[in-house]
Amino acid sequence: PSINYRFPEQSELRNYELLSKIGEGAFSKVFKAVDITGNGQVPVAIKAIKKKSVYIRDEEIDHDPEGDEEIKNSSRKQIINEIAIHRMVSKNSPHFTKFIDFEESATYFYLVSELVTGGEIFDKIVQLTYFSEDLARHVITQVAIAVKHMHYMGIVHRDIKPENLLFEPIPFHGRNGNIQKEDTFKLGVGGGGIGLVKLMDFGLSKRISSNTAKTPCGTMEYSAPEIFKSEEYSMKVDMWGIGCVLFTLLCGYPPFYEKNQSKLVRKISKGDYEFLAPWWDDISSGAKNAIIHLLEVDPKKRYDIDDFLNDPWLNSYDCLNSPNS
Ligand code: ADP
Ligand code: MG
Repeated sequence: PSINYRFPEQSELRNYELLSKIGEGAFSKVFKAVDITGNGQVPVAIKAIKKKSVYIRDEEIDHDPEGDEEIKNSSRKQIINEIAIHRMVSKNSPHFTKFIDFEESATYFYLVSELVTGGEIFDKIVQLTYFSEDLARHVITQVAIAVKHMHYMGIVHRDIKPENLLFEPIPFHGRNGNIQKEDTFKLGVGGGGIGLVKLMDFGLSKRISSNTAKTPCGTMEYSAPEIFKSEEYSMKVDMWGIGCVLFTLLCGYPPFYEKNQSKLVRKISKGDYEFLAPWWDDISSGAKNAIIHLLEVDPKKRYDIDDFLNDPWLNSYDCLNSPNS
């Protein structure tokens, strides 16, 4: 048909027309698009990934590729993993976008999914500078439910951050029922304009095999103990991620920040973060306590997802009080 090639990604795409660019990751561009094959006027999101870049993304590959063939095979494996996990997790939960379709061209993989219209939680933090405790709770509870869903299925996300959290907007209804302009200083749960929160981007996600599934031939007798240990605690990386997000929501800056890479690594390794004055002065001890349990260096002592879902602060919203009390 008569597609105007505004984007280089369009030229190899068959069934969809790219309308506008809505996002960008380290390895991809994401577009708003429509299906041009049928009656589909419902806009979708298309993540276009350059095949070559997928290879670089995998930190487990520690050698230079042998040739184009190896790059292609490895890239395809990774994309199949991303799609499989996306489909699996989004089947029974509103906290993920539905996976719709897949296209492959000579240069790109195209992942088609449900469009989320509110934008990134990251941009919302930039816009509001920080969230009230109630709004932070409203967001992080949904993230926790999404993570619970993944962990229950034996999947670690491994890339939880405000850029990978999207939301559907809800209008703020004022006292008289009229839709009002958001009040950035008195944000209650409704006031942030944040409705349903969705966890995205399964590019680094991984299925964690159970001890028995790991050894299908019954050779567990010969496996070293750390094989089981590392699997057992690998889910905990997501809990650290949740801790970093919650910290950032409440004060507007991340818990670990250093321009110098090796300094940053040192700080993270020691769990060296602070509740700095004046930003943290008015934040409840309950919220700080939850963060302390999430940003615990020892994964054995760190909250797991059930611990966090049972955390007193997370469960302390009192709907009889005004949203900002
Ligand atoms: P990457 O793996 O390169 O980080 P992401 O899947 O995180 O790619 O997508 C990059 C950005 O594109 C996201 O941070 C988000 O802003 C936007 N985006 C991705 N998927 C959607 C979607 N379904 N609806 C709306 N925006 C999206
Ligand atoms: Mg991303």
